[in-house]
Amino acid sequence: MNISENEISEIVKNVLAEMNGQERKQLGVFDTMEEALAEVNKAYTLFRHYNKEQRENIIKKIRELTHNEAEIMSKMAVSETKMGNVYHKTLKHHLVADKTPGTEDLECRALSGDRGLTLVEQAPYGIIGAITPSTNPTCTVICNSIGMLAAGNGVVFNPHPHAKVCSCYAVDLVNRAVLAAGGPENIVVTVKNPTMDTSNMMVNHPSVRMLVATGGPGVVKMLLSSGKKAIGAGAGNPPVIVDETADIKKAAKDIIDGCTFDNNLPCIAEKECFAINSIADELVSEMQKNGAYLINSEQVKALEDVVLVTVPPKNPQDSPKRVINKNWVGRDAKKILAEIGVNAGNDVRCIICETEFSQAFVQTELMMPILAIVRCDTFEQALDMAVKAEHGCRHSAHLHSKNVDRMTAYAKAICTTIFVKNAPSYAGIGFNSEGHTTFTIAGPTGEGITSARSFTRQRRCVLVDSLSII
Ligand code: NAD
Repeated sequence: MNISENEISEIVKNVLAEMNGQERKQLGVFDTMEEALAEVNKAYTLFRHYNKEQRENIIKKIRELTHNEAEIMSKMAVSETKMGNVYHKTLKHHLVADKTPGTEDLECRALSGDRGLTLVEQAPYGIIGAITPSTNPTCTVICNSIGMLAAGNGVVFNPHPHAKVCSCYAVDLVNRAVLAAGGPENIVVTVKNPTMDTSNMMVNHPSVRMLVATGGPGVVKMLLSSGKKAIGAGAGNPPVIVDETADIKKAAKDIIDGCTFDNNLPCIAEKECFAINSIADELVSEMQKNGAYLINSEQVKALEDVVLVTVPPKNPQDSPKRVINKNWVGRDAKKILAEIGVNAGNDVRCIICETEFSQAFVQTELMMPILAIVRCDTFEQALDMAVKAEHGCRHSAHLHSKNVDRMTAYAKAICTTIFVKNAPSYAGIGFNSEGHTTFTIAGPTGEGITSARSFTRQRRCVLVDSLSII
């Protein structure tokens, strides 16, 4: 995960040189948060007068540039964060460009009656402060920008420090699109070196009216304690259940496809599997045919020592905690296997193992292409375990079954924002499925699959005893 300043500037230089034949200053990227905030406020005084058509033209241009530069951004993100893979990240950028809603997402409600006409409009908040993750850095910047600009806001990003170069690149791309479509300079801004200090300044600045956090529990909690309107898109630990009515061949392929997408970085990706006993052998065998490498219990122990680290408790009475070793998040299965002495072929994309329910790979959001499978006697037992393994995040859950009653029972019990049946997890964000996409899935604060309307405030406009024309 450590990348030197020199390597970073080399990447930026190469990319910019590749695009323009020369280096140039990135648009919307500032040395200090003070400057960034001053500039976005200046831009907002102009942008607040832009109508929907003008905003839609900007969104159209962002979509176009995102398509054009999907691969560049994916290469940058993988190179900087050492996580995920270029092919899947490229697909994610195209998805963001195609399926993030624009201004069409905004609705006006009209209440017309005996006493006149009342309109309820979805208005911008003003300046939104957004914190973005290292796992989907550029996609989140672009997806948030489309939704927030469509709703008429200005945006200041405080990206993850481990993904600052590619995130700045995405901010620059958005600004290039805004300018090309006739918009103001610096309506989307960020800082070159995001830190906790720049984050605090952004969160507490009076001109920032709304906050949006996409990341783990720490950042969501911090934003929700800010006293401002906040949208929190936090962690999950999505379980997948496979029952005896499922098409096992398809279930196995779908689960491995979803679990290995961008090396399991998406928060919606299958993180642990509960399989009914009678089909478990077939499921494992089909997964092996789809690029899964089955490890035994000794290898599981060895793998635990690689992908987990022990942190001493803050309180001496408590026991030490095992947490993920961030060095292995989003890495290739083959590289992880090499650490435990397994030399796997190039077609291996996932590590699978059979474990007890209490095992760390079941209980922890690893964000690695590792899938623990727990055998269950009945569907009811699988459901109970899945609910417990999700830890009340209410994020995502998945099922392979043809039994509608079970689908209903599972959905009712687990209460997740996303519930996918008989498809890879990424169907939950509109990839090869119906529905729009987002990279900010707001479970804790309830906006769900966020879009432009999530970034608005309702305003009511009342005219009494007039303009009700019937
Ligand atoms: P992270 O929580 O480490 O970082 C997210 C951002 O928050 C970064 O910019 C980081 O610098 C900042 N941050 C962290 N703690 C902070 C604090 N106390 N105060 C201020 N800023 C703070 O997340 P990550 O490792 O980049 O991303 C992975 C996590 O994010 C996973 O848990 C994943 O499930 C979650 N995630 C959720 C969604 C969603 O839509 N719900 C999307 C992507 C990632």
